Amino acid sequence: MRLSDVLNKAPETCTAQVENFLGFRKVPWGQHRNIRVGRVVKNCRCSRCGGDRSFVSGDQLSCLMTTERSVSIDVCLKCSACDAKMEAWFLVAGDDLFSQSPRVYLERYSENRREIANAVDQAEAQIADLLERAQIAFDDHLGAGAMIYLRKVFEMTTVSAAELVGVPVKTSNEKRKPFRSLLKEVNERNRIIPREFSNDGYRLFSELSEVIHGDSDEVVALEKFIPCRRLLIGVLDNIRNTRELEEAKASLGWSIVDADNNVEGVAK
Ligand SMILES: [Zn+2]
Repeated sequence: MRLSDVLNKAPETCTAQVENFLGFRKVPWGQHRNIRVGRVVKNCRCSRCGGDRSFVSGDQLSCLMTTERSVSIDVCLKCSACDAKMEAWFLVAGDDLFSQSPRVYLERYSENRREIANAVDQAEAQIADLLERAQIAFDDHLGAGAMIYLRKVFEMTTVSAAELVGVPVKTSNEKRKPFRSLLKEVNERNRIIPREFSNDGYRLFSELSEVIHGDSDEVVALEKFIPCRRLLIGVLDNIRNTRELEEAKASLGWSIVDADNNVEGVAK
């Protein structure tokens, strides 16, 4: 795997082993090294030429050593059709960055879309914005604040998944359904909680809620932020993955899967 594969998955933050990209000679702190790791590509809606486009970097990227274990990568991206510009920034960390195949993960990621490139769909744009706010709060050591944004993402995602599979979000007397039961109903119809922690699916929401309702102090909230964010990204990836599998099946002309099927059903 090349480093660009990791960058192109942002905001996903999984650990991956990549081909050496910095060379074997150490770069001192605060110094740059140019790297060739494949092009960075972000799919966005270009408001200048109107359409879903790939925003693509050049062949060469510049890496700034921020610590012995991390590099900052600023990337300029251009619309493949009209040359409209946006920027993306990545902070990549790893234990042995100058080894043959370092294990790296994406520690931070942000975009400057300049009001030209918009997320391909509105919901995705909102989620990206909330995740960014969560990260800003976390960086400022505001644990409870960071968790509120994560919970908002979890709620929004579940509500739109409910609408997709036809689960009513209100009770019969027009009251908002308690989130826990909504999540349970949605997950039974179309698994959105990754299988790896499906038994603990509702604990993620409990963790987020406990922190917000003042049962934890800020230190605990800050400790829980990274793992909770990771789990939440898992939920988002799971939904995206299910949608892509459905699209792949549809384009092969296979029978349309009914809403009762979940990820496991699709994989069979
Ligand atoms: Zn364009």
